Amino acid sequence: MYMNTNTRILAPEFDFARPASLAEAFALLRKHGRGARLLAGGTDLLVQMKMERLSPELVVSLAGVKELDGITMGDGLTIGAGTTIQSLSRSPAVGARFAALREACNAFSTVSIMYMGTLGGNICNASPAADTAPALLVHDASVIIASAGSERRVPLAEFFAGPGKTVLKPGEIVTEVRLPAPAAGTGSAFRKISRVVADISQVCAAVSLVRDGARITGCRIALGSVAPTPVRVARAEAALTGAEGTADAFAKAAEIVAEDIRPISDVRASESYRRHVARTIVRDALQTAWQRAGEGATK
Ligand SMILES: Cc1cc2nc3c(=O)[nH]c(=O)nc-3n(C[C@H](O)[C@H](O)[C@H](O)COP(=O)(O)OP(=O)(O)OC[C@H]3O[C@@H](n4cnc5c(N)ncnc54)[C@H](O)[C@@H]3O)c2cc1C
Repeated sequence: MYMNTNTRILAPEFDFARPASLAEAFALLRKHGRGARLLAGGTDLLVQMKMERLSPELVVSLAGVKELDGITMGDGLTIGAGTTIQSLSRSPAVGARFAALREACNAFSTVSIMYMGTLGGNICNASPAADTAPALLVHDASVIIASAGSERRVPLAEFFAGPGKTVLKPGEIVTEVRLPAPAAGTGSAFRKISRVVADISQVCAAVSLVRDGARITGCRIALGSVAPTPVRVARAEAALTGAEGTADAFAKAAEIVAEDIRPISDVRASESYRRHVARTIVRDALQTAWQRAGEGATK
């Protein structure tokens, strides 16, 4: 049986545009409607085009749109959607206070993908396995979505609508991801297990804890590759909030995570393996985040 693979040459014809500003990009999207598709680093889009899952008439490259570039540190952090995974992984502003995001970017498969792939592309592709998504969820990220003449801010937790689906409407572009300043005494961590290093995750998890002495005063736990979208696990977060930060408490919360996630069996892992790995990496991430929260500076 003939199957399209990621290694074939792109045969179907399409037009290509490289706008120099958001205004030009919006005009192209308005003119071409659903026939147009945005291209950032192309590491997801080109694979889908080669496999003929997508056949846009017009590919609109965002490479020349300078408004999408850059990391700005203020009270919190503003990250342009076109910022590459490599830039994030090297950013002192990310490393200083957003350890889970830094670790998620460092866990990206290969150097070439890190240099090409962008944060905007990672979340807009809406894969349940997107590495940055659990990290952004525990950092309480919001997404800025713009269209010609309007802008809205959506909490990342409300951005994903299913595998490959987001709340983006035709004509909209994600321009920024914003992270609020973490509370004093915050520690975070990200963990990922994959079949080989250069692969998307079998399971990935991020956690963030706020520590006040021996007690946990705030907790977020999020996972990828265990449900149709990246998810937070509210019952485990509630179990830890107000509790003492002990190995026993972390093990119990990890057990709740393994119970509450909804993994499937697929080519990358079985459902039972995913539950087992989720339990292990969440417990490990909680211990690391707790330790970081106790080191004084917010990480
Ligand atoms: C070999 C290989 C290894 C990979 N390893 C990993 C991995 O370890 N972890 C991981 O999470 N992912 C991995 N990926 C997936 C991919 O590299 C990432 O999801 C990457 O961040 C996508 O970014 P991009 O800029 O290349 O997106 P693109 O392919 O350019 O775009 C992806 C989608 O988002 C849309 N889009 C892009 N930017 C915007 C925007 N600003 N506004 C609205 N829509 C937009 C595009 O139209 C497209 O539908 C891998 C891919 C490959 C091919």
